[in-house]
Amino acid sequence: MSNRYADSPDPGHYNHTHRALLQAFLSQSVMTFDELKPVIAEILIAHEPDREILVNDITQQTVTSMVQTINAHVNALDYEIRSTRNQNNRNLTYALVNGTSDPLTQIATSFTPDEIAYIKRLLDFMFETNNTKIREVMAVKGLKAVQLAKAPPRNRQSQAAGDGDGDEESMATQAGPVIKSVLPNDAEKVLSQLVVQGFFDRSHAGYYSLAPRALMELRTYLKETYNEPPGDEDEDDEPVTRIRDCEGCREIVTVGLRCDNKECGVRWHDHCAMQYFRNQQGSRRRCPKCKAEWEGETYVGEKADQAGGRRRTTNGQSSMIDEDDE
Ligand SMILES: [Zn+2]
Ligand SMILES: [Zn+2]
Repeated sequence: MSNRYADSPDPGHYNHTHRALLQAFLSQSVMTFDELKPVIAEILIAHEPDREILVNDITQQTVTSMVQTINAHVNALDYEIRSTRNQNNRNLTYALVNGTSDPLTQIATSFTPDEIAYIKRLLDFMFETNNTKIREVMAVKGLKAVQLAKAPPRNRQSQAAGDGDGDEESMATQAGPVIKSVLPNDAEKVLSQLVVQGFFDRSHAGYYSLAPRALMELRTYLKETYNEPPGDEDEDDEPVTRIRDCEGCREIVTVGLRCDNKECGVRWHDHCAMQYFRNQQGSRRRCPKCKAEWEGETYVGEKADQAGGRRRTTNGQSSMIDEDDE
């Protein structure tokens, strides 16, 4: 494999090529490795017209090296190019991320405050309502997504499982200005814009879920917003972990597999689980944490919306219809 350009040109020194790549990210915030290859090849050819550079000369190492140099340069401005694998097709995906304190506003620069509040309702639905101990769907179906355009009578911030009684009042005041509903037509526009901008994916079955770009931008935000450490609100509150990392790659899992034991926190991406269990000796596959037998049929993501997340139960009837268990 030719690696002629892995360290070229001028490794570590921010130059025209890095500036041009940063420009490319500024105009198109998210790109897969395959989309990046021709972009970088063109940049390098412009930089050194005499060298013969083919798209396939651009390796992952080329990208990594250039991205590192750019990151060192833009770090002080709170920008970073991050990468992750698409959970559905494993495509390596890069995004320019702004690491400021309010990522939701960053994501939504092209939206009105009411639309941002709508996006927040979508996220709350994905990661609270549609993400219970029994069913970790972490997605919202198209029709429901449009229904959420209607603002609730009283605005509450990301509501915790319990209803806050007296807290509710203070939360409403903290939430600031009154949030108005978004018209159904506008909601559909917001949704399609989110898909175009690479924040949401829309599946064939019509579910909206977070796309790689949103997962990269919202990594910290999601955990801070939806995970409740012990004793966060009520003293006797159990800690609630709604956002979990993959046992293999340590990235957030919103599409993948979970341990059959509902009390167990082990989550995987399909591919990461496959790798782990392929390397496991013997015929008995067991969860690395709770040691429960591993069937690999309890899902995270829209598949979990069918029969409580199992493809089929052994005795032909689902015992996991009950949704309220928390
Ligand atoms: Zn993984
Ligand atoms: Zn387990």
